[in-house]
Amino acid sequence: MQTLRKILEQAETNRVAVGHFNVSDLVTLKAVFEAACHLELPVIVGVSEGERRFMGVRQVSALVKSLREAYDFPIFLNADHTHSLPSAMEAAREGFDWIVFDVSTLPFEENVRQTKAAVEALKALRPDILVEGEIGDIGSGSEIHDAVPDLQKGLTSPAQAKQFLEETGVDTLAPAVGNMHGLLKSMITGNVKKRLDIERIRAIKTETRVFMTLHGASGTDDHDLRAAIAAGMTVVHINTEVRLAWRRGLDSALANQPNEIVPYKLLPQVVDSVREVVSARLALFSGKQRWYEKHAVSSAND
Ligand SMILES: [Zn+2]
Repeated sequence: MQTLRKILEQAETNRVAVGHFNVSDLVTLKAVFEAACHLELPVIVGVSEGERRFMGVRQVSALVKSLREAYDFPIFLNADHTHSLPSAMEAAREGFDWIVFDVSTLPFEENVRQTKAAVEALKALRPDILVEGEIGDIGSGSEIHDAVPDLQKGLTSPAQAKQFLEETGVDTLAPAVGNMHGLLKSMITGNVKKRLDIERIRAIKTETRVFMTLHGASGTDDHDLRAAIAAGMTVVHINTEVRLAWRRGLDSALANQPNEIVPYKLLPQVVDSVREVVSARLALFSGKQRWYEKHAVSSAND
């Protein structure tokens, strides 16, 4: 089994990105895993502090590990947006592959100081673990927002990114490049898309040569996503689209079978709905889009 670091290196060499999808339950985990297996692509599952509180830190780790081992498949687990060192250490102890240590709301110097301390503590416990740091403002909450947040002031500069990397020693960087957590109401229909600052991504990459993660990519224009990957994004995070697909799948399952009470007869529709979204995104990030369109993923042929 290849390490996560090796998989990121390969993605960078091939100018593709690895998909990262947040999960909150077994239904979404199953959907992500099935999509990745079908497309034969490595995948990263993320759980925020709220998501892992719900699933259990040890329990979600055991689930992902069991899939990886039973199917000999490259699926990895990330502790997404971890806001404190104790919470990061807990995830590291429970076998997570990657920690996003996020104190980006603090002033820059304090962000550097705390992230550096977290990198040292996490690597002392688990030298193999990857640690990500975050600078700039990409909003919070993978939810549906009413108003557009003003994120212009919080964009990451290449010089700041370089300084942050040198001083903290993080393995991967989450910059603010026009991306935003959550979706606006106007984006749910898909008519309005998020746009990215591609030149900023390229400039940060040129300055740092580090693995970069694009957070809050739900609802982003497909061409911008491809351009962002070509400009240096190694991993792309999708959460809100997964949640929206989960909700739509559940709504239609309940509407289609109003008298059904057997969970495993209702929930496959939710798996299908989430898997469709994950498959399309994975195909886009990996350059397999044409292949995917020809071999539409559905439960019928699994
Ligand atoms: Zn994020």
